[in-house]
Amino acid sequence: MSTSQVAVAMDWGGTWIRTAVINRQGDILWQAREPNPQNGTKEQYLAHAERLLATAIEHAGGPVAGIGAAVAGPVEPTTGTFYQPPNLKVLDGVSFNALWEDKFSLPVWAGNDANLAAMGEFYFGAGKQSEEQGQPVKSLFYATVSTGVGGGAVDNGRLFLGANGLTAEIGHTIVNPSGDALSCECGSRGCLETAASGTSIARIAKLRLDAGEFPDSVLAGLEPDNVDSEAVFDAAQRHDPLAVSILDGVVSALAIGLTNVVHLFNPDMIVLGGGVTVGLVKLNLLTAIKKQILGRAMSELHKEFQLTSAALGDSVGLVGAAALVWQRLDKAQE
Ligand SMILES: [Zn+2]
Repeated sequence: MSTSQVAVAMDWGGTWIRTAVINRQGDILWQAREPNPQNGTKEQYLAHAERLLATAIEHAGGPVAGIGAAVAGPVEPTTGTFYQPPNLKVLDGVSFNALWEDKFSLPVWAGNDANLAAMGEFYFGAGKQSEEQGQPVKSLFYATVSTGVGGGAVDNGRLFLGANGLTAEIGHTIVNPSGDALSCECGSRGCLETAASGTSIARIAKLRLDAGEFPDSVLAGLEPDNVDSEAVFDAAQRHDPLAVSILDGVVSALAIGLTNVVHLFNPDMIVLGGGVTVGLVKLNLLTAIKKQILGRAMSELHKEFQLTSAALGDSVGLVGAAALVWQRLDKAQE
């Protein structure tokens, strides 16, 4: 049995809950994944999560330094209180820190999953790789472009949290101010999420097909239910003009959103994660995004950033939750 300290990490999404045992180097030593209880009550959700945490603690193989939880939704950072999580509504108002510190007699830190993904990439992903290549990162912005669009900002190793831990919501920055811009889940219109998320790519494809654009597109031959973002990426790979045109829109929306990030945060690294990013990388579109940002950056120093895809893949939330544990413990010892 190892005597090295480990962190127990949790990544709680709308569909899955994942737990892991992770060491100081960010290596996953053990992990498990289970679906959330279907239509469960708050008590059922919490009992399920606590059972998974207890199992992870049993598999720790060394002293557990603390529990880190990455959760899908807004989290107040000092108490770890969940606020109106759109995909885990029954957990609204739950304060994870006090609840689990009591239950497990361990320090607990919770954070928004996209925020913690930024921590994961900074300490153990793309940021670490850059450091190993002699280019340590000072300020990293992470954006997940997936079913939705979220973000996180790490400055000199610490999360930039804002007053209530609600920073870096790049998905709800406006990229299209026109009155007929697409409506967003958040209640606004023209948000980056409505122009670049996987859900939006499918929505835009259907709208443009309904409008009779590009009747010869391969997408026009599909059943409407099969017109999803994957189909659009597949078609673009085969130079389908509608698919290419849709992805041109995704690229330009992301470039606008990230130009704003460059001017607001002055990052030296921007990391893109999520399924849509995987598709963009395959088509070499990150280069096109960077070119558009560089064309708008206000100074030569603003142009000094790396734009790269996430190094941690699906594990970014878990590793980020562990990074939060290590960073908080190190901070406590300063
Ligand atoms: Zn929005």
